[in-house]
Amino acid sequence: MNLTNHVYIALGSNKGDRIKYLQEAVDLIFAEIGKVNSISKVYNSPAFGFESDDFLNTCIYIETRFSAEDVLQKLQAIELKLGRERTFSETYQARTIDLDILFFNAEMLKTELLSVPHPELQNRQFVLQPLKDVAPKFEHPKFKKTVEELLVECEDESEIEAIKIWLKNPSKQFDFSNYNYIAIEGNIGAGKTSLAHQISCDYNAKIILERFADNPFLPKFYEEPQRYAFTLEMSFLADRYQQISDDLSQLDLFKDFIVSDYDIYKSLIFSKITLPEDEFKLYRKLFYLMYKDIAKPDLYVYLYQNTARLQENIKKRGRDYEQNIDDEYLDKINSGYLDFLKNQSELNVKIIDISDKDFVNSRSDYLWLLGEICGEVKS
Ligand code: ATP
Ligand code: CA
Ligand code: CA
Repeated sequence: MNLTNHVYIALGSNKGDRIKYLQEAVDLIFAEIGKVNSISKVYNSPAFGFESDDFLNTCIYIETRFSAEDVLQKLQAIELKLGRERTFSETYQARTIDLDILFFNAEMLKTELLSVPHPELQNRQFVLQPLKDVAPKFEHPKFKKTVEELLVECEDESEIEAIKIWLKNPSKQFDFSNYNYIAIEGNIGAGKTSLAHQISCDYNAKIILERFADNPFLPKFYEEPQRYAFTLEMSFLADRYQQISDDLSQLDLFKDFIVSDYDIYKSLIFSKITLPEDEFKLYRKLFYLMYKDIAKPDLYVYLYQNTARLQENIKKRGRDYEQNIDDEYLDKINSGYLDFLKNQSELNVKIIDISDKDFVNSRSDYLWLLGEICGEVKS
């Protein structure tokens, strides 16, 4: 789904509260650029080529959806925010923070603003040492040597030493360890699948996705609701039951972390809207027979999105058979969910209003949503 770029960044500071600048830079990179996978130790090194305080250097490995140019631009904005001053001079100067892109995937890029891999990295102990902590086997795309090998060959003999202070990984502020199985629910077009994907990518969750697009009755149902409602709901139920039991049987509910973009109750909520009373009663009987055998999520998240935004999302994703869904149907589904959730005592439910949020395109909205889901841990 979301293709991510793997990026290695060098951080250096030799002015002011150096550790604090490094930590703030890591936090801002997490908040604005992407997930921080790993952080090296912090190294102390003498300033290279100019007289000033020692440097503290570190490297991080991140994943981001942004391009190399965008990452550079964001890093420069972070440098400015942290008080980096640039004066027009040819020589190196003391700086609160310097952020360089070392590798961007295995790409070789050369533009006026950007050279990747960083052209000096192989000549610098203070870059290779921390880089080796996070990427010893990463191969330099031009020299075809791993970071470890480059370090052995590096002629820079400056004295570098790891200090005994570690930076904190800001990803840890979201703690999912209380949950084994989270179901993401919401109306049509609320963004369930996108969110499930993002969480699964960022927190190594196994993902269970609804295979609704393959249901041959769905397009027919939208054409002729009365005629196809029961068949549609039955086939959804059979599918969901089979899929959930198949998928869950492959996983270890005690060890794995699982995210799904639906919960089986959805069957009951939709059928209550689409079926006449008598058919619904029959349906409900069958539903509960199956339901009792199924593992329940330990957190049920309902993404509430307003109808206008749902319609926008439905238009945007452009599935033919969804294009004529009217507002009234969406409103009914929403009320169906809320009624169900109100009367629900077995499930641990969080209803989250995302009507003014765009967690797909805005990283800060996404992080806000993670905070709502798992509750931020105070550090
Ligand atoms: P060095 O690049 O030798 O480490 P520096 O980091 O002190 O020197 P800066 O003044 O921070 O140099 O940056 C000079 C310019 O380098 C930036 O304006 C930026 O456009 C450019 N640049 C080229 N490649 C990179 C890269 N891979 N990462 C960061 N900046 C880069
Ligand atoms: Ca630099
Ligand atoms: Ca720089």
